[in-house]
Amino acid sequence: MTQHVSGIAASDGIAQAKAYMLVEPDLTVEKTTVSDTDNEKQRLTKAIDEAKEQLGKIRSIAAESLGEEEAQVFDAHVMVLSDPDLIDQANAVINDEKTNAEYAFKQVTDTFISMFEAMEDNAYMQERAADIRDVRKRVLARLLNVTLPSPATIDKEVIIVAEDLTPSDTAQLNKQYVKAFVTNIGGRTSHSAIMARSLEIPAIVGTKNITELVSEGDQLIVDGLEGDVYINPSEEEQDRYQNKADEFDTLRKEWDRLKDEPSLTKDGKHVELAANIGTPKDLEGVKNNGGEAVGLYRTEFLYMDSTELPSEDEQYESYKQVLEGMDNKPVVVRTMDIGGDKELPYLELPKEMNPFLGYRAIRVSLDQDSIFRTQLRALLRASVHGTLRIMFPMIATLQEFRDAKAILDEERANLENDGVDISDSIQVGIMIEIPAAAVLADQFAKEVDFFSIGTNDLIQYTMAADRMNEQVSYLYQPYNPSILRLVKNVIDAAHKEGKWAGMCGEMAGDQTAVPILLGLGLDEFSMSATSILKTRSLLKTLDSVEMAELAEKAVTDCSTSEEVVELVESYLNK
Ligand code: PEP
Ligand code: MG
Repeated sequence: MTQHVSGIAASDGIAQAKAYMLVEPDLTVEKTTVSDTDNEKQRLTKAIDEAKEQLGKIRSIAAESLGEEEAQVFDAHVMVLSDPDLIDQANAVINDEKTNAEYAFKQVTDTFISMFEAMEDNAYMQERAADIRDVRKRVLARLLNVTLPSPATIDKEVIIVAEDLTPSDTAQLNKQYVKAFVTNIGGRTSHSAIMARSLEIPAIVGTKNITELVSEGDQLIVDGLEGDVYINPSEEEQDRYQNKADEFDTLRKEWDRLKDEPSLTKDGKHVELAANIGTPKDLEGVKNNGGEAVGLYRTEFLYMDSTELPSEDEQYESYKQVLEGMDNKPVVVRTMDIGGDKELPYLELPKEMNPFLGYRAIRVSLDQDSIFRTQLRALLRASVHGTLRIMFPMIATLQEFRDAKAILDEERANLENDGVDISDSIQVGIMIEIPAAAVLADQFAKEVDFFSIGTNDLIQYTMAADRMNEQVSYLYQPYNPSILRLVKNVIDAAHKEGKWAGMCGEMAGDQTAVPILLGLGLDEFSMSATSILKTRSLLKTLDSVEMAELAEKAVTDCSTSEEVVELVESYLNK
């Protein structure tokens, strides 16, 4: 019988395929006493050889489907398994303790891992510890006779089912075969969800227990429009969803025709529809979806995709590529936003009780200013290749903005002294993600060139509800009048000082929010590239003067999120 599970619709589209469980098997090891130690040593050698062979295969598949760079991690893994020290020491434990191979191997790798992890300020050693953890799983799985998932080798159409997907898991997914994903945890604004939208594959997150309900190979339907998953659906259901997928495709084709059109409302008002990107590779999506600008370049992926801090030149190349790729259209680059749910193994960020309220983003940049300066220099140097706007994340106080701006000015002066060419029209703005900044927007507006409202965080901080926690995901309420009032305050403050206000949180591409945001006077809407065309299509049906009246009602008369939704829907269905 079909089982139905619902979760949070995180990325549009409908997919049907078999489930691929990206779930770690139980690799618990028991210590047993053996009499035939030679046999245990042979078992270990065999398991290591097989793991190496398997890694070789994975490497070649990964190189083909994902590229040589992504595949190189597997070379490091083979190297670990070829280390004679590791094998000799494991054999010694088997001999000395007359114990089983899996126990000996676990014991020895534990020692290696603790040793490498103890060298806390050595990124290379930290990486080696991670490599050992990874290959150990492979060897133990062979010894225990269980199968490990390996997403890089997927070579037929599947839907991934997982507890959560880390950015590195997602980087290994080949879009040609991975048709959708469904996870236990996460919300609409968790990074796996954002990644799914940039990959343009349907995704459902926050189902709580999908990994318990689905088994490898089950047939699944994922409806990313509604947030529904069907496990082993009937033929009739499969047909029904095929029709729904076809209808969605037709709609997509209609939107596609708007690719080269300007974003105009029914009464001819232009607003800017921009895209959020994470890497220069995402530019293709921006172009395919008719993005008029990049409204948010999340530069932290540059840091996360690397095993050490990216150099000034490396960063310069990426920024230049994006600026040139956008042909003088504006590119808002956000300085590094590490911390929160985005960790950097080589930058020892402290483990915190409340990482979202802790040491992240501009707080790290101002504290470790040499990292910040490197990034700013790379940006300033790249500025001559297009229209650069620099944006600081997580600003809470004016002092933070002033300090960040002062460092930027210092680096500009240093570069100019060295005779480096820098654009003289770089706008410098801030993200409004913290209620304190939203409330004090009138003061900020006097000093910044622009605001970009980061509702993913602004909502979590206003509602005091962790954006990663699906237990409290009902509090992600973009239409709540409290949020709308903050947004209005920010837009009005910007306009009063002749500045512009944009939004780069997920709310900017939310079809129920767009009419209100238009009515509130938002100048720039920055969203997942895949939401641009449907938003352009919606804008064509909206009158900006009527929307101003609608927004006014929402902000002053409505007392709940539901009332706002009702108000917008009654207008849209009129
Ligand atoms: C936001 O907080 O709305 C935002 C766009 O930033 P991020 O999602 O990267 O935290
Ligand atoms: Mg944010």
